[in-house]
Amino acid sequence: MANTMTTSVSVEEVYGILTRSTEPADAAAQTPLREANGRLLCEDVLSPFDVPRFNNSAMDGYAFRGSELKGERVTLALCGTSYAGTPFEGEVPVGACIRIMTGAAVPEGLDTVIPFEDVEATDAAVSFSADAVKPGANVRLLGEEIRRGQVVIPKGAMLTPEALGLAASFGRAALPCASLRVGVFSTGDELREPGEPLGPGQIYASNGYLLEALITRWGHEVVPLGVLPDDETVLEKAIRAAMAECDVLVTTGGVGEGDHDLISRVLGRLGSIEHFHVRMRPGKPLAFGYLDAGHPVFFMGLPGNPVAAAMSSRLFLRPTLARLSGLTDKVERPETVRVVCGKDVRAQASRTDFVRGNFVNGKFEGSPLQSSAMLTSLMKADAVLIVPEGTGTLPAGSEADAFLL
Ligand code: AMP
Ligand code: MG
Repeated sequence: MANTMTTSVSVEEVYGILTRSTEPADAAAQTPLREANGRLLCEDVLSPFDVPRFNNSAMDGYAFRGSELKGERVTLALCGTSYAGTPFEGEVPVGACIRIMTGAAVPEGLDTVIPFEDVEATDAAVSFSADAVKPGANVRLLGEEIRRGQVVIPKGAMLTPEALGLAASFGRAALPCASLRVGVFSTGDELREPGEPLGPGQIYASNGYLLEALITRWGHEVVPLGVLPDDETVLEKAIRAAMAECDVLVTTGGVGEGDHDLISRVLGRLGSIEHFHVRMRPGKPLAFGYLDAGHPVFFMGLPGNPVAAAMSSRLFLRPTLARLSGLTDKVERPETVRVVCGKDVRAQASRTDFVRGNFVNGKFEGSPLQSSAMLTSLMKADAVLIVPEGTGTLPAGSEADAFLL
């Protein structure tokens, strides 16, 4: 006897409701570069200077004027050295050159570098064939890669090792990253943690592991909160304690209409939670809203069936976290690609079907096993085909949207 209303909604309606009912959290924190791998960037990173910052040599060799490349052989007087970090300070007269190391500044007026191995050198002069090198060769020019003020890593980007290297090359020691702390609970009397023995009727709690790995991969910080029984008092106490240390709370299980589906009842006392039947498969039950812990804590109650939990988190939780992080204005479905069906894809017009399957000779084929309890159907799949509500079975040869796994 749930005291919360359950509303039947389409998948598209869920996105609308999520967009209207969420607000960006105060979620950006300066994250030291060494902790920012895989995190989401909350502001554009602009280059504070031209890159390279000065003309410099791409080789160890001799720097000179390209205009000296005349006749058959060029002979130049040697008048100094430019090291990386210790530039040559003087003037280089016409007819002269300097020794130069990779990364060292090329003095004003010089524009060409010839590698050591292409010259004959004494202490006082070098000579080389005029066609050994072209004017302008082996010099990296000021600003040729990046202009000052250019956006190099855009807001919303997931920070890759390359992005972190770039940020460091601009002198950034920290970056503003999304820093939502997302607590994850699994609920159900039947659940045991891996490593514990199983009693009759018990199963291992797998959803927490899957969800925590997804949420980490999406750039957020996970607070693993373990397994809770189907007991109102225990649930309420644990959720109250978790609210204090999280920005977002996610639970799996207990959001259907079964006798033990307590999540909505308990959460209803801790904040303002709506409970939906989404016309989709897998993943029909869904609850979300804000809990009041002094600060707003966004709550999402996902279904217990593992495929449903995984699908609903990809479809709804991920874009909601992006919105809460201030990275998007809307909660939107994941990016899709157009695919052609290689075989009939069975679906019902009364709901949106998310069909797991594989590409065979470039065409999508649904897997035979589509139960929302069967995690293998998701693990082995290449993609999820979306058959929108009102469509029904798609005949072989038809086109549809899919998101890649
Ligand atoms: P519920 O939504 O609580 O009715 O659960 C639906 C189904 O998912 C039941 O078969 C549960 O045993 C199963 N289930 C719930 N939570 C988990 C979990 N954390 N890991 C694996 N299976 C689960
Ligand atoms: Mg349950």
